[in-house]
Amino acid sequence: MTEAEEDAARRAWHERGRVLFARPWRLLSSAPHPGALPAPAGVEVAFAGRSNVGKSSLINALVGQKALARTSNTPGRTQELVFFVADAGLTLVDMPGYGYARAPKAQVASWTKLIFTFLRGRAGLRRVYVLIDARHGLKDNDRDALKLLDEAAVSYQLVLTKADKLKPGDLAEVTAATAAGIARRPAAHPTVLATSSGTGLGIPELRAEIARLAAGN
Ligand code: GDP
Repeated sequence: MTEAEEDAARRAWHERGRVLFARPWRLLSSAPHPGALPAPAGVEVAFAGRSNVGKSSLINALVGQKALARTSNTPGRTQELVFFVADAGLTLVDMPGYGYARAPKAQVASWTKLIFTFLRGRAGLRRVYVLIDARHGLKDNDRDALKLLDEAAVSYQLVLTKADKLKPGDLAEVTAATAAGIARRPAAHPTVLATSSGTGLGIPELRAEIARLAAGN
């Protein structure tokens, strides 16, 4: 492919991503325990990350709706998997935030069980986007989550959030360090995406990637 052709293909995927996410997305269901998981249907893409990483904000930025995913200032409160659909053969899955220091052990155990049941049983789950706060980089509890994904053999990709809080040079540094941190992980996509729900940085690119996954590419 020539450079011009690559550029045209990239723009075409951006447009497909834009159209995909411009649909009216709605809540399908939420699952606080494995028995409440909806029957798998079509392609699924999930979002995971530490509490307060900016996951709800990112989902809302993707769909262009302010309050689809519930943002919350109470970290660790949402302990369920939430499913969003838009009659597009694609389901977005908001996974419960992890790493809340004050979460009781029993809650962490039930969270882990729910997540593992979900990850192991979803034939249509194409990718988990693991969100990392650009200011903090990879933390131990992120590594625990990545280990779980590697064990479940689910393809995942890291997405830096709140990129607007960093200077461009620092963002490049964190992106490189984060990519280096997953270089040997078997199920990790090698590219680390940088996003900001505040400025919209990286949102068209992420939409385009998800459109590719939805199309089976
Ligand atoms: P969640 O707990 O992972 O769902 O995180 P939220 O989406 O509720 O966001 C947590 C906090 O980070 C909120 O105060 C948001 O306003 C803030 N936040 C989220 N995304 C961004 C971003 O892209 N830039 C900035 N500056 N702040 C953000």
